[in-house]
Amino acid sequence: MKTSQLLIPTLREDPGEAETVSHKLMLRAGMIRKVAAGIYTYLPLGLRVLRKVEQIIREEMNSAGAQEVLMPMASPAELWRETGRWDFYGKELLRFKDRHERDFCLGPTHEEVITDLFRREVKSYRQLPLNFYQIQTKFRDEIRPRFGLMRGREFLMKDAYSFDRDEAGARLNYQKMYDAYHRIFTRCGLTFRAVEADTGLIGGTSSHEFMVLADTGEETIVYSDQGTFAANVERAEVLPPAQTEQEAPKPLQSVSTPNCRSIEEVMAFLKVPANRLVKTLIYTTGKETVAVLVRGDHAVNEIKLKKVLGVTEIELAGPATVEKVTGAPVGFAGPVGLKGIPIFADHAVPALRNVVVGANQPDTHYVDANWERDFKADQVLDLRNAQAGDPSPRRDGTLKTTKGIEVGHVFMLGTKYSKAMNATFLDPQGKECLAIMGCYGIGVSRSAAASIEQNHDERGIIWPFPIAPFHVHLIPVSQSEKTAAATAAIYTDLVAGGFEVLWDDRDDRAGVKFNDADLIGAPFQVVVGDKGLAEGVVEVKVRRSGVKTRIAPAELLQHLRATVQATESQR
Ligand code: ATP
Ligand code: MG
Repeated sequence: MKTSQLLIPTLREDPGEAETVSHKLMLRAGMIRKVAAGIYTYLPLGLRVLRKVEQIIREEMNSAGAQEVLMPMASPAELWRETGRWDFYGKELLRFKDRHERDFCLGPTHEEVITDLFRREVKSYRQLPLNFYQIQTKFRDEIRPRFGLMRGREFLMKDAYSFDRDEAGARLNYQKMYDAYHRIFTRCGLTFRAVEADTGLIGGTSSHEFMVLADTGEETIVYSDQGTFAANVERAEVLPPAQTEQEAPKPLQSVSTPNCRSIEEVMAFLKVPANRLVKTLIYTTGKETVAVLVRGDHAVNEIKLKKVLGVTEIELAGPATVEKVTGAPVGFAGPVGLKGIPIFADHAVPALRNVVVGANQPDTHYVDANWERDFKADQVLDLRNAQAGDPSPRRDGTLKTTKGIEVGHVFMLGTKYSKAMNATFLDPQGKECLAIMGCYGIGVSRSAAASIEQNHDERGIIWPFPIAPFHVHLIPVSQSEKTAAATAAIYTDLVAGGFEVLWDDRDDRAGVKFNDADLIGAPFQVVVGDKGLAEGVVEVKVRRSGVKTRIAPAELLQHLRATVQATESQR
């Protein structure tokens, strides 16, 4: 393709709105443009990358025995009411009414729609196992859409749903998808790790997330330094403390702590470390207000808390609520004498002795407060995030943390959906049985963005060959007939040889073309100019290494093929 035939609106400057590298570079390389928060148009270059990722996914899904379907974006509320998710899904579900005032939503995921298909069309165990997949636009009204394609509201997803007659079959399908995901993300040029994950709004019994390791990732992964344990921090279990502190309890004392609202301020004022404090956080679920106690250096895990409370949304209570339930302004809440709301304590709290807590009075804390003697909780559970230095819950070492971008997610659903929607089949004895399900998602657009997070330098994107929008950026740098003819011949030759070539036919300075080529990030650049041609050569630059080779046009195709083969076989 010629540059003049494509809209590639490259930008020299970093767009102000973009925070992450992939977002910046996708905007700068003219791949995407924003239409509304979290809603983008894919321009030709961006779309080419997405199509490549899709193609890899298709090949691997097909070879793993899944069949492609395409479900609608809009689905009727009735299906969602059957599983209870019409209410449970919360505000991420974009709902609307049709002209007959019937409720619909834009699909954020498709368990209901596929389970409905299954129960209508599949009758017998002879038809199982089945695995359906689609690559389709999803809509989730994310609370904080950001980082470009990384967390969009409208985005491309591959979702697959498997149906089996028994657990063993379901596990086999799960394993097949797990293995396929390894191949897919490897082919996309990603460095990733599969970790244990929370099952979130989809539900089910077990799940793994595929995490691309990147500092800009929104997810925190904890992993054991010696064993195989790796999990999303959202889900990582924390063991209760091995033992209770041995210190003898001292008498409770109230102390004045003027303006000390944050843990840091209290620590500095009272000269105590964070692990000698217990934080009291007041949360509301919309229906109920609760207090949560955690050690000062620990963070509440809101996912664990939501599970305990059986709700999908919680938030820290506002100043008015805090004042109402504690009698003190924000910053001075504490468990001693706190009444009228349920108190949940993380299981690290009862093991502490002589701690600092808020006193439910302005500018006041208690020191040397003690569990049972001075305060208690209605429930004691695992409510905090795992953190570096904790023992691994598998008892196989100590935890470390790293950041990741979730690009894929596999779930064992069991009968959660088949039960709710009565999706059954007849077994060999003619008995009706519930199908055992699994579901498997890949963020197609997010994977493309994640690849940029891992493959770039200060000049632009460095596409892995299999998902590059073009393989070769062909750059004529002289205006002569001779260069034009040689460029055209090379173009024809490479395209006939199976390469996708972007021919920069613009009437621009060489420097401008080079900058754009580095920004757009095709794996190879071929520079054609009068000077080189006089010596019988063109210049090939490998975008990743920056290595330049002078080569005769007649040998170019062979040279590129050999280089691709060498680099691809290393992965
Ligand atoms: P997250 O925790 O990032 O919100 P999720 O757990 O809600 O993700 P799933 O429901 O498992 O995501 O969706 C399957 C895949 O779809 C995810 O692994 C991710 O790659 C992708 N995905 C989810 N939400 C978004 C989004 N808002 N924008 C782009 N891709 C997304
Ligand atoms: Mg989500």
